[in-house]
Amino acid sequence: MNKTGASPKTKRSGLGDEIVGRIHQLGAISETPEHLARIFLSGEHRIAADLILGWMREAGMAAHLDAIGNVCGRYEGDRPGLPCLMLGSHYDTVRDAGKWDGPLGLLSAIACVADLDRRGRRLPFAIEVIGFADEEGVRFSSTLLGSRAVAGTFDQSVLDARDRAGISMRDAMVTFGLDPDHIGAAARTRGELLAYVELHIEQGPVLEQKNIPVGVVTAISGATRLAAKLTGMAGHAGTVPMALRRDALAGAAECIGAVEEFCRTDAAGLVGTIGTIDARPGATNVIPGRVSFSLDIRAPADPHRTRAVADIVRRIEAIASRRHLALQLEITHENRTVPCAPWLQAQLAEAVVAEGFGVFELPSGAGHDGMAMIDISDVAMLFVRCRGGVSHHPDEHVETDDADAGARVLLRLVENFRAREG
Ligand SMILES: [Zn+2]
Repeated sequence: MNKTGASPKTKRSGLGDEIVGRIHQLGAISETPEHLARIFLSGEHRIAADLILGWMREAGMAAHLDAIGNVCGRYEGDRPGLPCLMLGSHYDTVRDAGKWDGPLGLLSAIACVADLDRRGRRLPFAIEVIGFADEEGVRFSSTLLGSRAVAGTFDQSVLDARDRAGISMRDAMVTFGLDPDHIGAAARTRGELLAYVELHIEQGPVLEQKNIPVGVVTAISGATRLAAKLTGMAGHAGTVPMALRRDALAGAAECIGAVEEFCRTDAAGLVGTIGTIDARPGATNVIPGRVSFSLDIRAPADPHRTRAVADIVRRIEAIASRRHLALQLEITHENRTVPCAPWLQAQLAEAVVAEGFGVFELPSGAGHDGMAMIDISDVAMLFVRCRGGVSHHPDEHVETDDADAGARVLLRLVENFRAREG
């Protein structure tokens, strides 16, 4: 194994250079010059869409913008009108984003089709490449808008949601050149898709730690989010003896330690995070009387997550009761685990081996468009190593060798793809 995790027989193709060149071109299209931000339905989002549509056409695809602003390209199979293998990712970003989250998967898919087209290769199925218009949900606080429209599960009430400037999604769509009354036209049916496969940066440090450029995703972990409130008694930091205190922040600290300990000792991919905390009244010389904190619990299997959440809740209840703190705990968000289809994982693993890499399987702790696509198709994901696991940050980076490795595996999967039998 050399440092890219490849055996010496594998060699770089031209795909990596082509993809990385376009990553930088696309990454230059931003609302602010100093920080990358390409938010759903902005002017820059439209410029990016037109650039991607051009690349799709260059790659031999028929390309159009669909009813919600997804960029869609189609490369016909050995006869027109066949069901498709759909490849894609998203082209919106968070604010102060990196260049790779989303675009790497989209540009890798386009590069694969361009390669087939250059060789005049047609397959017994069509290939469609889709760039979802909104995955991150930055503008209207509702994620997966592009893929939900394709899956036919778009929630029409989001059209009335307003961004920070007070502009409704409906008005933003009109400005972008779309008709909000026709979102339904973006919906696809199960019969049109053979599978949905997404290549994406890992957004975590595991592949780097394993010294391997690609990983086969087993599932997109489900998540439960909770809001907790502990109420004790505020008091003077100098006069109330320790034994008589009901310090809500000290109680929260014990809860945080307990959640970390519980998740750390789990071997089945459980992760737990307390990401926000607010202590009141919030003064140096006052014992905190009220504390609110958030909890985010994820696992790659739903029954495991449900049991873990129940266990964690019991531990927090015990801490609150021992410390004579009142506890309010509510679930604010829950989404199910999306398993990657075993038959697709097997074909991805074959492609990984054929390119000379070892097969490494891992769950995705982050959400992806597959969470919406599962409603109309089996889904699979291939992760590509990113430097330090850093994502949603300008330092996000993928080595060209790794981008190339990911694209070669994807191309190999496409060329050898067999639809699910039955
Ligand atoms: Zn992403």
